Amino acid sequence: MPISVAIVGSGPAAFYTAEALVNSSKDVSIDFIERLPTPFGLIRGGVAPDHQNTKNVTKKYEKTAINDQVRFFGNVNVGRDVSLVELREIYDAVVLATGAPRDRKLGIPGEDKAGVFGSADFVGWYNGHPDFRDLNPDLNVSTAAVIGVGNVALDVARLLIREKEELVKADIADHAEKAILESPIKDVYILGRRGLVEAKFTNVEIKEMGKLAACVPQVKPDQLPDGIGDLPDREKRLKTRNLEAFLEYSKRLPNEKPKRVHFEFYAQPVEILGNDRVEGIRLERTIVEEGRAVGTGEFFEIECGLVVAAIGYLSEPLEGAPFDEKGGIIPNDDGRVDDGLYAAGWIKRGPSGVISSNRPDGVATAQHIQKDFAQGAKPGRTALEKLLKERNVRSVSFADWQKIDAAEINNAEGERPRRKFTTVADMLDILDR
Ligand SMILES: Cc1cc2nc3c(=O)[nH]c(=O)nc-3n(C[C@H](O)[C@H](O)[C@H](O)COP(=O)(O)OP(=O)(O)OC[C@H]3O[C@@H](n4cnc5c(N)ncnc54)[C@H](O)[C@@H]3O)c2cc1C
Repeated sequence: MPISVAIVGSGPAAFYTAEALVNSSKDVSIDFIERLPTPFGLIRGGVAPDHQNTKNVTKKYEKTAINDQVRFFGNVNVGRDVSLVELREIYDAVVLATGAPRDRKLGIPGEDKAGVFGSADFVGWYNGHPDFRDLNPDLNVSTAAVIGVGNVALDVARLLIREKEELVKADIADHAEKAILESPIKDVYILGRRGLVEAKFTNVEIKEMGKLAACVPQVKPDQLPDGIGDLPDREKRLKTRNLEAFLEYSKRLPNEKPKRVHFEFYAQPVEILGNDRVEGIRLERTIVEEGRAVGTGEFFEIECGLVVAAIGYLSEPLEGAPFDEKGGIIPNDDGRVDDGLYAAGWIKRGPSGVISSNRPDGVATAQHIQKDFAQGAKPGRTALEKLLKERNVRSVSFADWQKIDAAEINNAEGERPRRKFTTVADMLDILDR
């Protein structure tokens, strides 16, 4: 009997695990169980819509999905349609690859005011994730602030000031494109508690900020370090290139273009200001001591009508699995959680790294499963299909997804790669035609 494996989720970690399992043995049957009718996790719902090349990795994942050993059960939410306890009863091995979909909170007064969003929600909104299509952020403001100094902060800031001609090749959700193009936002602040050396920006994304159609980057020269300091070679090279780009930005004039992205380092948000709606942020100037931001007691304010906090993500606990609430991950030993239960990707190691950083997790988990099971003992797929049928759960196969995909591509005009469906009902509707 083949080893039956359920992989919960269908983002990069899920696909790398499936790929490694398929490569390791013919005697393993793999089912993806994904809460949305669409596969690929954050590649569809997180990666910026104007970064289409990054999404090409899904072509490789498709090859795994159509392998005979693999099935896709989309539109099946673990915890709602089927429980983890049930999956563990019917599959030899269950791999949790559900990512880290919750925003870390700022933990400062005022963060619940209207106009303050976490980046998971905001990014989900512009990417047409069904959970966030009704977020309706009010972009009818002149200034926005993005808290955080990683690539997600750059994505959000860049999308807010993109021009129409810069979005023609993007798969941005219609509602977001309309709101962004109608928005009067002219200034976006990117706020970091620490400095450029500590920031997690990568070089390509930083350089992109200098080439925007209508926006000029602004950096205060006195906030830039004299040098990068002692770091491992590769990191030093990357940070040196970032510093070179920022030194050039520090000479750019604010009126060169109609819009500006201001990088404000050594600025720790202490309060979101305003009545019901955000009207500004109060910040404390910091210095960095042994890598930590320390407040100096000097405060200042930035007026803004929109705040997006891009300060990290947490995973969701799943009933039937242990959870480390503080770390926001499932406690595990290199991907092993319990007998027959494994974790891969962001739920295993937290929200760090790029898409390919999830590959080693997939390989390690596949190796554990190969070691832990000489052969299969549980029915897996047939038992899941029976359970879903009894519960009237409408699952979406990979062939179904390919129909949704084809319809989205077909609905797009010009150079646009696709026009996304943003409700589950619209996606399922295509399958009924
Ligand atoms: C905004 C943003 C932009 C990014 N941009 C880039 C980039 O440009 N380049 C790059 O290399 N990396 C980028 N990354 C990082 C990359 O997306 C992650 O490394 C990667 O997606 C993590 O993979 P994962 O499989 O662990 O999680 P995810 O990709 O989040 O996949 C988790 C999957 O599990 C599903 N799921 C969750 N709960 C359940 C449940 N209960 N039942 C069933 N299914 C469930 C979800 O729907 C989802 O499909 C970005 C990340 C973010 C947040």
